[in-house]
Amino acid sequence: MPIQPSNSLLGLDLQELTNLALGMGQPAYRGQQLFDAVYRQKIERLDQVSTLPVEYRDRLAEEGWQVGLPRIARKFISSDGTVRYLVELADGETVETVWMPEGDGGESGDGSEAGDEIESGIDPERVVAGLRPAVRGPSAPLRAGSAPSPHVSGRRATICVSSQVGCAVNCKFCFTALLGVKRNLEAGEIVGQIAAVLREQGAEPPLQRVNIVFMGMGEPFLNYDNFMKSVRLLAEGVGIPASRMTVSTAGIVPRIHDFGQEPLRPKLAISLNGSNDVLRTEVMPLNRKWNLGELMKAAREFPLRARERLTFEYVLLADVNDAPEQAREVVELVRGIRAKINLIALNPGTELPYRTPEQERVLAFQRILVAAGIPTFVRRPRGRDIFAACGQLKRTVEIAPASP
Ligand code: SAH
Repeated sequence: MPIQPSNSLLGLDLQELTNLALGMGQPAYRGQQLFDAVYRQKIERLDQVSTLPVEYRDRLAEEGWQVGLPRIARKFISSDGTVRYLVELADGETVETVWMPEGDGGESGDGSEAGDEIESGIDPERVVAGLRPAVRGPSAPLRAGSAPSPHVSGRRATICVSSQVGCAVNCKFCFTALLGVKRNLEAGEIVGQIAAVLREQGAEPPLQRVNIVFMGMGEPFLNYDNFMKSVRLLAEGVGIPASRMTVSTAGIVPRIHDFGQEPLRPKLAISLNGSNDVLRTEVMPLNRKWNLGELMKAAREFPLRARERLTFEYVLLADVNDAPEQAREVVELVRGIRAKINLIALNPGTELPYRTPEQERVLAFQRILVAAGIPTFVRRPRGRDIFAACGQLKRTVEIAPASP
């Protein structure tokens, strides 16, 4: 697979930036200055790093170094406030990044922040709490010359980020699968999506609360090292704590084990989508490689932290996996695991052979899980009108873009 040209500062960690400075005869602290400029200030060009001596900036430029912030090529704004960005990488490939002003409720692996669930029947307080704008804190930043976005000020937001160009996993209900996989993203390209969107939205973590979900295009656990490096850069550089990040995997079992050993890690979500092996293999052919027995064993062994819950996502496909009997099978599967379940009614698409279940069917499925004591939430679809919702990311540009 071709990779991003390696002259990009975005993607280098503090040690690498320090080595770069030292290699050019600069003091070590220049590395820290570059690190702050790239990740905290999210500069676009080297000449914006006012803390660095001009000669050093020129030298970096002469040697071909660039910041490497990806370009926002298009943006699409949903009636619900969700924004889908088409982000262009250095080699001209594009991925999608989604900004959700109030979070999607799925960012919290333990359900404690889940705010956008509808009709969960579990905790109406929480639903209300999630929709109420938080009080603007005294330290919320106002950037000179640019009013903060109305969606940002005083409200939390979630960014859904891509980890690969396309996806290799081939889930039968997902649009991204139709693209196949072109290549992995570099760590800098993953962080770069977030830096570009934060810049565009005028949002500045850690002062503003931003959650990250690695749930865009691609399978993060098939690009594990770059994904994990991006987590560290986001936490240490951009200032978004790992506890506000969630990664979703289609079920790459060996990486679930590795991920459990990471000292700094996001919360984990697993795409379940089938309640038995026959069904899961039909909708997720990957189940042939790592079946439910292996997947649930890995889930059971996953070292959860205090109060942390594992999330299972379950996409409901009408008359395929949405029957009460299948809900009962799910109850048996997750028995004994400190888990919560996010139900996602299929976000439809013309090329997909599945239909979205009726709301009543979704709620009936939910009731069975809730009755068994499993916290279960129905995801509110975000940005369906602009093809930004789960499984809809396939770089659709044939709809009217928002004016820039
Ligand atoms: N590859 C990872 C990360 C993507 S997360 C994974 O599979 O988990 C995207 C989530 O959206 C997954 O839970 C997936 O099952 C779900 N999804 C995919 N296509 C969908 C669709 N058409 N409607 C609703 N949800 C979908």
